[in-house]
Amino acid sequence: MGILTALIVSPFNCKINIYTDSANCITIFNTRMLSGVASPRQKLKQSNFLIWDLIFFLIEEKQLLVSLYKVSGHSNNPYNDEADLLAKAGAHVIEPIIVNHKFFVKHSLGFISWNRLHVVDRNVRKWADNVIQPLIFNSMVNNKALSPIKQHIIDGDIDWTFTNEWLNFNDQDVPCNAKLSKQQGSRIKKCNFIYPTIDIQQRNYPRLYPIGSIPCIECANARDDNTHVGLCEEHSIHIKNILIRAAHDLHDLIMKNSKDGNSILEETIKNISLFNTSFVDALPQSHPGYLLIHHLVPSDLTKIFIIYINDKKLRFSLFSKFFSTLMSSIDALIWTRRASLVKQWESTLSITKNKKRFYRKRHKNRAPPPPDPGAPDHNLSPSRHYNSRHFATIPYYRDGGFNDNFAHIRWTTSNYLHSGHWTTYRDNIGFNNIDLFLTLQNSFLKNVFDIR
Ligand SMILES: [Zn+2]
Repeated sequence: MGILTALIVSPFNCKINIYTDSANCITIFNTRMLSGVASPRQKLKQSNFLIWDLIFFLIEEKQLLVSLYKVSGHSNNPYNDEADLLAKAGAHVIEPIIVNHKFFVKHSLGFISWNRLHVVDRNVRKWADNVIQPLIFNSMVNNKALSPIKQHIIDGDIDWTFTNEWLNFNDQDVPCNAKLSKQQGSRIKKCNFIYPTIDIQQRNYPRLYPIGSIPCIECANARDDNTHVGLCEEHSIHIKNILIRAAHDLHDLIMKNSKDGNSILEETIKNISLFNTSFVDALPQSHPGYLLIHHLVPSDLTKIFIIYINDKKLRFSLFSKFFSTLMSSIDALIWTRRASLVKQWESTLSITKNKKRFYRKRHKNRAPPPPDPGAPDHNLSPSRHYNSRHFATIPYYRDGGFNDNFAHIRWTTSNYLHSGHWTTYRDNIGFNNIDLFLTLQNSFLKNVFDIR
């Protein structure tokens, strides 16, 4: 913008030397000067292409000879400092200078405009990603299958960045193989509360499983579903042991890798609610350990890593190592143990793998099974049956729309592009002000878990 305004006010036929601290500007300028005309495809990917177009138009029209020179930024160069101040002031003007794109009729490019205010003169795919990803994320957290952790989500107890890291974590030495797909698949099912517990199997194979609510195989006190995993009384002793060991391991790990490790550390770890094992009987649903069981990373845990490990790369690698050990003990003591008990129970009912595999084939032409009279409220279980016709509307449509009309603006402001992904700011956005849990009936975007 600075270069453009300088060229606008310059007289015809003259030589101009511009000193700038932006190496990026110089590279773009020189590349385009050398290569001549940029193709529309290249141009549409370039940030601020309208401004650049106008700059080259002016150079041609006014017959200017422009050279760019690099000065180092923040080096007490008085002119550069003044330019910085002007640029900062310019960022706050109420009426920004907008290049009129109609000026470029001869290039006949198709432009995308934002709210009919301004053309999006940058890579539209990347730009749109910043709008769409939060919408997908919202749909995910509105998903009724996640209602057991609703309060945790609202309170910001889940560290989504680290959860994402964990879901994609690969400790194999190859980038893809069957084992890895299976591991990642099981993590995704567990954290979305769609792991095939008995209630889900019952829905999928209604003729194989007995009708009615089937109680937990371990405690027989509650319905066997995803929510109950971790809350089961039979799990609580294992959870306590796991948490006590994890607290100990975490302390050792931080002491070994951080200069700041000291006597306060032990106290800090002890006071984290995640490592609070004073609950009697079953694990309370509000306990951060419940998130852990379901492969979601509690912010309580990442807080320690963020405070004590400054280097980002090291932090992630230490975390992944620590967390994968922790999770494999949770999987072994809770999920796998539970699964083998369920398997034993299934074999007493002669429910076999093969029967499930050929279920659709065998029951294809038979009338649907009788409705289950003892079934609890259908809203409680994940269901793929729509009782009303689903009308296709625009993508990401939801009843009631957005509560907060400015959410898009916050999410798409350029700051996110420069200082990390929008998920980093999730906790500051105040999700409960947007459209969190506005509608739980909306299930067509179910189980989307993509928060890249
Ligand atoms: Zn139980």
